[in-house]
Amino acid sequence: MTANTEHPSLLDLPPLSAEHFAAVEDKVAALLRTRCDVVAMQGEALLPLEACIRSAAPRGSTALNVITGPYGETFGGWLRDCGAEVVTVTAPFTGSVGVEEVARALREHPETGLVSLVHAEAATGNTNPVAEIGAVVREHGALLMLDAVASVGAEPLLTDEWGVDLCVVGGQKALAGPAGVSAVSVSERAWERIAANEQAPRRSYLSLLDWKERWLDGGRTALPHAPAQLEMLALEQAVDRIAAEGLEASIARHRSASAALRAGARELPGLAPYVVRDQDAAPAATTLRVPAEGVEAREVVAAALKAEPRVPLQAAAGPLAAEMLRVNHYGRAADRAVVLDSLRALATGLESLGVAGAESAGRQALAAAGAAWDGTAAA
Ligand SMILES: *Cc1c(COP(=O)(O)O)cnc(C)c1O
Repeated sequence: MTANTEHPSLLDLPPLSAEHFAAVEDKVAALLRTRCDVVAMQGEALLPLEACIRSAAPRGSTALNVITGPYGETFGGWLRDCGAEVVTVTAPFTGSVGVEEVARALREHPETGLVSLVHAEAATGNTNPVAEIGAVVREHGALLMLDAVASVGAEPLLTDEWGVDLCVVGGQKALAGPAGVSAVSVSERAWERIAANEQAPRRSYLSLLDWKERWLDGGRTALPHAPAQLEMLALEQAVDRIAAEGLEASIARHRSASAALRAGARELPGLAPYVVRDQDAAPAATTLRVPAEGVEAREVVAAALKAEPRVPLQAAAGPLAAEMLRVNHYGRAADRAVVLDSLRALATGLESLGVAGAESAGRQALAAAGAAWDGTAAA
């Protein structure tokens, strides 16, 4: 993109009105299939995630934290920081959490007041059965907080039907929108419990109650502070674009990308989907295992990006960087050509690292991926 300093399109815009801000929130509520309050929060999604936990986990309460990747670990730290007793259920990064494990933990800890769960994890490429877990949590009576940042727009997300009390989304993944603003839906039950928590942040950037008192309860007519105008406009455009495409079509595109990537990766020597079962695989991103002797995932990524610098490949963070890489096929990258280019780059990268048979396997991978895309797109 070229900057046009004479006619800057991002500057000198008319102020974003309270009415417009509320309209963007309503569009997000429609996307989340919720009739609950939706609050747009002016920061990256970690802001409402931390706000939810600090609001809904009183000192001395018990919280069940489901860990299926790095975000769950972060939530555990915040919960302990709030003084909550944390019960942890951990699922392997090769799959999803079972509803039975959640049910058992709730039976063993009937005092649980909050369950924190990540819907899909871009970092570990897995997705969890929220509908089933939501039913179990609702029967128990605890609040359910869901991190749906990596699932919104990429797979079904039925906030009210599934009984999600606090549903956090951001624009930066499947919506291909801004990262600097995010949103959370808050159920009536959640508001009651948050209001009863004396420790819940007040007069703070982390405060959900401030937004309730200063924005929602006044009928959303006056904003409490200057709106993050550019980010809100970008979020609106992202949600409008998904609506124009059709949410179902966006979900289908992500599903096809996942199926194609997994089918193609199975043909490549030394690579395999990290998440074993298709139904546990996040439609937004695919993680791949690199079991080849002497070849590390980060080397494969570097070699692949050297061949095709624009494909959405990334080595896993931390200790997993040796054995896991990920393909971020979300947003505009949930696209047939991008998926095929990613596989071609991986084959070329493996070839350049001396992995035997990578070149011919690459051709098979492209054929398998194309067939899988077309098969799921037709389904
Ligand atoms: C991407 C993502 C977020 C947002 O975190 P960033 O590191 O800012 O991208 C939050 N939760 C989940 C599950 C995510 O995948």
